[in-house]
Amino acid sequence: MTRIVMKFGGTSVADLERIRNVATRVARAVEAGHEVAVVISAMAGTTNRLVAWCQELSPLYDAREYDAVVATGEQVTAGLMAIALQTIGVEARSWTGWQVPVATDGQHGKARINAIEGAEIVRRMQAGQVPVVAGFQGIGPDRRITTLGRGGSDTSAVALAAALQADRCDIYTDVDGVYTTDPRIVPKARKLARITYEEMLELASVGAKVLQTRSVELAMKEHVRVQVLSSFTDAPGTLVVDEDEIVEQEIVAGIAYSRDEAKLTIRRVPDRPGVAASVFFPLAEAGINVDMIVQNVSEDGTTDMTFTLNKAELPRAREVLEARYDEIGYAELTADPDVAKISVVGVGMRSHAGVAGTMFKTLASRGINIQVISTSEIKVSVLIAAEYTELAVRALHTAYGLDVA
Ligand code: ASP
Ligand code: MG
Repeated sequence: MTRIVMKFGGTSVADLERIRNVATRVARAVEAGHEVAVVISAMAGTTNRLVAWCQELSPLYDAREYDAVVATGEQVTAGLMAIALQTIGVEARSWTGWQVPVATDGQHGKARINAIEGAEIVRRMQAGQVPVVAGFQGIGPDRRITTLGRGGSDTSAVALAAALQADRCDIYTDVDGVYTTDPRIVPKARKLARITYEEMLELASVGAKVLQTRSVELAMKEHVRVQVLSSFTDAPGTLVVDEDEIVEQEIVAGIAYSRDEAKLTIRRVPDRPGVAASVFFPLAEAGINVDMIVQNVSEDGTTDMTFTLNKAELPRAREVLEARYDEIGYAELTADPDVAKISVVGVGMRSHAGVAGTMFKTLASRGINIQVISTSEIKVSVLIAAEYTELAVRALHTAYGLDVA
């Protein structure tokens, strides 16, 4: 017998018809003899509407009340799903976060799960009942409802799977798996049968929005086997697994892009110890995350620094640095929001040379200039002009042999 957590995203439960469809799928898994727990999101669009209501009343809303409001979306679908299951003869009941309980820290709006008490849920499953757990929510040390941050129901599902020691956590979403790149840009993109946690994590962090990044971190830490698949087809999805479970490892697993970043350049800062700190420390204090960084050496005692950050934070970053014009002592500050970050990801890079070289050569052959480069053990990222995003992704997909034959 297999114990499975089945998680359904907002598009899979967007209306009653789809909720019925999901219930049928759950019933099939129960009939096949599996122990099943369900985790659900709010209906597509619901959370956005609830968030907008809070913001409209007060841009500086009380985060505890925000959680009380936005957690309701999942409560609705959990109850509806339990009813839909009962209607087709499957014993089921809904569980809110505090009922399980899913204990979190007290960071309202972006809480982290501390512990899940799974014993009662397991008892119910063993007795043939399907627990339908509201994702995205928990209970804080203050005994008030918390939510886990947008997209957090993926993390709820993985955490529950770990707590129940489930054999698998199946995440049903609106794509039927993880692709080598965005199929909307590259029609020849291929669905991966398997991908490693690390690759999934890198892809999620550089723009491939299939799973919430935190859910992948948790799956890796807790060794939860995650499967990404669609609730609209019966096609097999993508399994996220440990590296040693992948027999024939491709060097490059996928190519991701992000247009969410902007580039800032500070020209002619004094080339002496402490200058980088004088730039990046105030940014960090202002809560601004910096991503890629390059610094050039020059002969005349000054240097140029270029870095990228989230586009939405560009105005604030400028403000922070302009306020420190005298202290840092730079000549000029320039910003470019029209950039894209293209990343090539694969654990095979650890043991194969030449991945970066192929990337640079491919971009050069298309006349695409590279503005910034950054690398990690299993990733190479470059910053290019945004207008070349599609061209770059397509060319690289072909260059690494990822195109469907
Ligand atoms: N409903 C929440 C959101 O839209 C959580 C989730 O769907 O994962 O962010
Ligand atoms: Mg989601």
